[in-house]
Amino acid sequence: MFNFKKKFGQNFLSDKNLLKAIVADSQICEKDTVLEIGAGAGALTQELSKVAKKVVSFEIDTDLKDELESLELKNVEFVFQDFMKIDLKEFEKELSSYKVVANLPYYITTPIIFKLLEESEKVTSLTIMVQKEVAERVVSGTNSKDYGVLSVMINFYGEPKIIRVVGRQMFNPMPNVDSAVLNIKLDRKKYSKVDKVKFSKFIKTAFSMRRKTLFNNLSGMYGKEILKNRLDEKLLSRRAETFSIQEFIEIFEILEK
Ligand code: SAH
Repeated sequence: MFNFKKKFGQNFLSDKNLLKAIVADSQICEKDTVLEIGAGAGALTQELSKVAKKVVSFEIDTDLKDELESLELKNVEFVFQDFMKIDLKEFEKELSSYKVVANLPYYITTPIIFKLLEESEKVTSLTIMVQKEVAERVVSGTNSKDYGVLSVMINFYGEPKIIRVVGRQMFNPMPNVDSAVLNIKLDRKKYSKVDKVKFSKFIKTAFSMRRKTLFNNLSGMYGKEILKNRLDEKLLSRRAETFSIQEFIEIFEILEK
């Protein structure tokens, strides 16, 4: 019997209807290559393999190797590596585009999302199971306590939508919180003129201390003089959580000139 490893965020799914629904949510078809992060015992991988052209599934836990390989899925390649350590550019080299579908390990949800958004040039959508609270944070708007770096950056790269809420009882072992399937359609043309690496640093700095003003948070990055000379005082006295993504882009462009 397999021993679940908490440190790897192992909460497996088995309900066929739910697995099929996630595959439907992802809108993959027979032309698509799919990247899965966290194969587990292969429950979702199997459903994906029925619909997609090819599935590449990463799994960190080599104890799952025999079980996964015994499934003998012809269009699936299992890679037993830590996804956080792979070179995504290398992975994508031979592909024209691909979609991500995964029941993510919750202890590294945010780093995985950021890795895909920041390093990938070819992923076109993410359909991911995350904690419900994370999904709510992603789709929240300005002035909500949940609005922050994750919401701004995901909305910068694409259009996020919560597709379904999934109760904790659907997982084995059962986690302490409910989950949700989040779909993010990526649109790289949206803000193609903005320097993504710098913009990401700007947003992280603007939110570094939530209760402080934009002026306080950005003064280390740009210097007090530049801030005061280029931006209105009223604007500088607001907190990061009050700015829409459009406003952030305008401010960023003024400061980077
Ligand atoms: N897809 C399966 C398992 C989801 S649980 C299902 O839905 O049933 C998350 C899986 O991610 C676990 O199997 C865990 O071992 C794996 N995992 C955790 N960290 C990982 C990492 N850094 N890289 C690749 N896989 C990882």
